[in-house]
Parts: sequence; C-alpha cells; structure tokens
Amino acid sequence: MANPKPEELTQIDYRPPHKDWMDPAVDFRKGVFCYSALPKNLQYLDLPNPRVWQPFDKDWKLPPDWKRIILDGMRERLKKFRSFRLFMDICVRCGACADKCHFYVGSGDPKNMPVLRAELMRSVYRRYFTLAGRLFGKLAGARDLTENVLKEWFYYFYQCTECRRCSVFCPYGIDTAEITMMGRELLNLVGCNINWVLEPAANCFRTGNHLGVQPHGFKDSVDFAVDELEELTGIRVDASINRKGAEVLLIVPSADYFGTPHYYTFLGYLALLHEVGLDYTFSAYASEGGNFGLFNSHEMMKRLNAKIYAEAKRLGVKWILGGECGHMWRVIHQYMDTLNGPADFLEVPVSPVTGTRFEHARSTKMVHICEFTADLIHNGKLNLDPGRNDRWKVTFHDSCNPARAMGLLEEPRYILRHVCREFHEMPENTIREQTFCCGSGSGLGTDENFEMRMRGGLPRANAVKYVHDRFGVNLLACICAIDKATLPTLLEYWVPGVEVAGVHELVGNALVMKGEKERTTDLRGEPLPAKEAPAHA
Ligand code: SF4
Ligand code: SF4
Repeated sequence: MANPKPEELTQIDYRPPHKDWMDPAVDFRKGVFCYSALPKNLQYLDLPNPRVWQPFDKDWKLPPDWKRIILDGMRERLKKFRSFRLFMDICVRCGACADKCHFYVGSGDPKNMPVLRAELMRSVYRRYFTLAGRLFGKLAGARDLTENVLKEWFYYFYQCTECRRCSVFCPYGIDTAEITMMGRELLNLVGCNINWVLEPAANCFRTGNHLGVQPHGFKDSVDFAVDELEELTGIRVDASINRKGAEVLLIVPSADYFGTPHYYTFLGYLALLHEVGLDYTFSAYASEGGNFGLFNSHEMMKRLNAKIYAEAKRLGVKWILGGECGHMWRVIHQYMDTLNGPADFLEVPVSPVTGTRFEHARSTKMVHICEFTADLIHNGKLNLDPGRNDRWKVTFHDSCNPARAMGLLEEPRYILRHVCREFHEMPENTIREQTFCCGSGSGLGTDENFEMRMRGGLPRANAVKYVHDRFGVNLLACICAIDKATLPTLLEYWVPGVEVAGVHELVGNALVMKGEKERTTDLRGEPLPAKEAPAHA
C-alpha cells in the first residue's frame, strides 16, 4: 500500500470517538506503529522473552506470568522513582497539556493528548496501588491490567517521542515523557520492544556505535573525511583515534560520519578543531554519542553512557567535547550525574583557546560543541566569511533534547547569526522551549511508521512552511542526528524546497582557515556563491 498523500493527512478529525476512553482496543494498521525487536537483539542485550512476534499478531507470546511481572515492576519503580509516584498521583486533569502534543495535533486521536496518554498507566496504578481504585474500580478511574491494556500501552507509548513539550505547559510540572519511559521500561520486562531502539543499542555494545560500524570502518570513515576536507580546503587535518594523553575526547553521533547531511557537519568539526589547534582524539570503543538506552530503560541508558566515561578514563583526557546530538545531551544533562557520575577523575573543562572555564559542566565534564564554538566566536578567535553561505536563507529548529533538556537556546542562534547573512525565526510558540518535535525521535523514525511520523511532524513542518512562504527560507539548521535523518523526509513531504543542515556545516563553510587554498565549493561540493564586486567610488 502506498503512503498517504499530504492532502489526505490534513483531513484530521478532532471529534471525540464514540467509544469510552477506558476501552483499550487499538488497531495496529500499517503506517502507525513500529515493528517488534528481533530476538537476536534481545539475546545480545540479555533482555527477557526473545521471540518472533509482531504487534498486529493476536498472540503476543507473553510469558505466562506477564501480569505479575508488570505489576511487580511497577511496584519496584514506584518505590525507586519519586517522580513516577508523584506523576501518578497529582494530575488534576486541567487539560493545559491536551493540545500541546504534536501527535494529537497531527492525528486528532484523543489518546495522544498527554493527559490521556498518562491516564492509560494511571488507570492501572489506581486499580492495583490505591484504595479507591481497589474498592470502586471503574468509578474511581481504575482499570484491570489485561492483554488489551498492554497492547494499548505499546501502541501509545510508541506514539510518544518523549519530547517533553507537554511538560512546559503543565502547571504541576508533570513530565509525560517520564511516564512514557516507565511504560516502555515495563513493556521491556515482558519482551515488548521495538527493533529500531534495540538494534542500535545492541550494535553499540557490539561495535561501539548504533550503526554497527566496526572499528576499522570507523577509521576508514574518519580517514575519508580527512582526505575530502583536504581536497576542499587544501589543508590536511590530523584526526587521531584512541590517542592516549590527548587533552580532549571528542564524541559525536555515529550518523555524523556515516549519514547525509550529517557528514557535512562532521567536516565542519574537523575544520574548526584543526583551525583552533585543539588537542583531541576520537575513540573507536565509544564511537557513538547517541544513547538509545534513553528510549528503552534506565539500566540500558546507564550502560551506554558508561562507555563514554570509561573511555575518557582509559585515554587519560582532561574533559569531553560532544557533537551535535539530541539524546546524548538529554542523558548527559538530566541523568548522567546519578547514573555514572560525578566524573571526578576528569577536570572542569577549560577552553585552551580562550581560557573560558565551563563551570556549568563541572559535574559531567562535557561541553557541547555549540558552547565551545560560540565562545570562540565571542572571543574573536575565528575568521568567518558568512557570504559563503549566501545560497541559504536559514531558520533554526530547536531539537527537543538540547533545547528543553539542557537549555541550549542561544548558542546555536549566536553561531548562525555569525556564519550566515540571512536568518529568520519561526513563530515564537514553535521554537525555543516550545519547539515542536520532528515527530520521529525516541526510535520512531522507521519506514513502517511513516504515516504517524508525518502526522507527528506536521506542526514542525507547518512552522517551517510559514518562514518558507514568507521569507523564502530554504534551509532548516538543527543540532541533532535524528533530526538530520528525519527532517529531510518530513520537509520533502510537507514543504518541498527546504533542505536540512547541521550548524557546524555552516561553520565549516564560513570558516576561513589559515593557509587554505581558494575555496570554490562549500562542504557539499556545491559552487560557492559569487563574491559581490567591490563597490566603486
Ligand atoms: S512528551 Fe512529547 S510526544 Fe510525549 S506526550 Fe508529551 S508532547 Fe506528546
Ligand atoms: S497540564 Fe498537567 S495537571 Fe493538567 S491535565 Fe496535563 S498533566 Fe494533568
């Protein structure tokens, strides 16, 4: 069956359905769900109940005591995570979050309202963990945990990108993403997970990165980029791997050295770090910044995050510099300290170029490359020619995790305003803390989930369309590997004519390197815009 056309997906029915919200029946039709994880990936990660199954199967082949496993898991987590207990108890159903989720906006399905998504779990919590629920059942908003309820959890907790937009509007600070994380963690206990989360996680343990690129393949990719940058600029940079005693460990998402348009961002990093003479090394063991554990369980998140710090210790670096990635930064800023930190064996990061001490990173010892670059520009350390990016009219998509989870709002804009000459913001209620998700985060960027991705990405694309129609914007810059993978598809669908780039691709274009040959192309190999003729008196 062909994918639906945009004019079909804009026919959104916001009328409430006739059936009671407590009815858990869901329809796993093509285009709105992700395929289950392959048994080999569960086995590799030592996860329970590896088997062949699919969400549309009638029999999910659950363990015989699946209900006890889920309820025990819930009890354990209610004890362990105060936030979980709080979020189960304090919602007053004010509805402030109801229309803030991109999946609700794009699908009209009321169970994609954050409040109702959370009720799917709260109803079970009430039934088994509150007196009112035990005594009055449905009257108290309580539901039995049945196989259909479990299937409904799977359906809706994998229609949430854990983006946290809803939490910005909740007067009680309820974070529905955390409820989704708990839902996925519980489903995980009985072997119900999706392949697009578990395969990258398994690859990461096997080869060091989500894409499954082996160490020699990683080295080839870095060498290839070094050669290509030399062809473009005439300068040969030194990009070492596993070099003990380097000052800084550079960690980037693996898509940066293997995907498009990510790769141009990677060239931008190499050019920049050479230009300022940073003493850095990559690692083949930790050749991945992304952390798909965030979309699976706290335990998996911890295991993946630990690799970065183990490698920093082994290589003896002073601090860590991180590339343009989304979930890496959410994990670093919100969880790393209690998972694997504080990283006291490292030093508080200090830029050797400007002397700036990044005090805010004193626990994680990890600095975002946008912070590093903005500081270089602020201190006048870069020679930039923004005219080299004149073929682009640029807007900026705040990727959910760097924006909402770490507050990285100004640095990318500051950089963009110095490396491009035409920059336009999308409407206020779609950027910064209120940014709309790409619709494919948290492992939902699969082909089989195409319709739901396009629906979920509609509010983002709509805001891009606004600046495209009004100002002729033709480039959406962002700082997340998932965004760079999924936004090109989204924009081709909803706003043809707008491309996607990383911020450091534009930095690499604008950067005038000492001793470079006259550049004729940008990092994509496209001709540079003709220089304006000097004005005559
Ligand atoms: S976290 Fe994002 S995707 Fe999930 S319910 Fe909230 S707004 Fe929707
Ligand atoms: S805004 Fe907060 S309190 Fe209000 S319905 Fe949503 S989650 Fe509940």
